[in-house]
Amino acid sequence: MRFETAVVHAGGEADPVTGGVAPAIHPSTTFVHGPAGEPLHGRIYIRDGNPTEARLEAALAALDGGASALAFASGSAAATALLLALPTGATVVFHHDLYHGIRELGREWLPRWGGRARFVDFASADGRAEAAAAGAALWWVETPSNPRLEIVDLAELAGAAHAAGARLAVDGTFATPALQQPLALGADVVLHSTTKYLGGHSDVLGGALVFAAGAAELAAGAARVRHTLGAVASPFASWLVLRGLRSLSCRMERHCANALAVAHALSGHPALAAVLYPGLPGHPGHAVAARQMRGFGGIVSLRVAGGRGASVAVADRLRLFTLATSLGGVESLCEHRASVEGPGASAPDDLLRLSIGLEHADDLVADLVAALAG
Ligand SMILES: *Cc1c(COP(=O)(O)O)cnc(C)c1O
Repeated sequence: MRFETAVVHAGGEADPVTGGVAPAIHPSTTFVHGPAGEPLHGRIYIRDGNPTEARLEAALAALDGGASALAFASGSAAATALLLALPTGATVVFHHDLYHGIRELGREWLPRWGGRARFVDFASADGRAEAAAAGAALWWVETPSNPRLEIVDLAELAGAAHAAGARLAVDGTFATPALQQPLALGADVVLHSTTKYLGGHSDVLGGALVFAAGAAELAAGAARVRHTLGAVASPFASWLVLRGLRSLSCRMERHCANALAVAHALSGHPALAAVLYPGLPGHPGHAVAARQMRGFGGIVSLRVAGGRGASVAVADRLRLFTLATSLGGVESLCEHRASVEGPGASAPDDLLRLSIGLEHADDLVADLVAALAG
């Protein structure tokens, strides 16, 4: 079955009790059990999960080609659970361009749990060699990465990780399963912030981990962490993500087409030092992205000539783009990424991150061109 068809139907069986075509939201926190606590209906308490969340998990596992999936209260909760599921004292090697919150998890929290974080450039042979020498339990990559839109060859990286005795986790938030299938390329686990494209409407916080068949132990560990922390996706949040999924394929097509149009229109603009978008033929990861993705995604980063001041001034002149963090919603957003990351930011000072929405590309380009003109 094609992805476009699967995404409309995954986890979408009619309600077995009412025949409802839309899924039910089950708010119950507790479920009737037998006299000795026997789980008569397959579940006991909501901290283990809930029926609406289970539907979402079935859908996410199917769409990423995984053996199982766990939904979480946020992408950050999913990332935390994955790290806590590793053996005590584990080393994790992260790609150097990385979502800020996960960099903080690695840098600040992993050592508190007895672990160690290393940061390398997985797109380079030197970086992969350094990772292989680290004796890590897990390699962690985003591709495309945040906020520089770097591309890493996933098939090559999975081979290198496994040869080094490490698992490979891929943060697939920017690509979504509509554009990239990391498990089919050899990854062991995929992370999604469902807050972004999967929810798709800037109105739900959520996360997920999708596991390959060979990563059952990691999946069981992450499930135990989730149970302990209560980091489940609520019934309503699960329902919103399920609802968002139905249009994912259509939305990603428009996000990609608009982002490509914006990148082409701004490429070479005299007010810009660089347009970062893997769909541009001059992007160093273009060939790999073209091979491992079905589209280049909806995020474009601009490096504004003149540094921080000029960059913030361009953001201030935008009218159609909303100045807000996050990404993946129907509306176009812009943020001066270093300001949003705050102290210790790794984003360059001149970088504006654009989440290209579903508006007409001509209107988006016109707004950007006017803002760049001053
Ligand atoms: C937003 C984001 C996260 C964190 O997800 P939350 O749902 O905000 O906790 C992780 N990775 C990437 C790439 C993100 O964009």
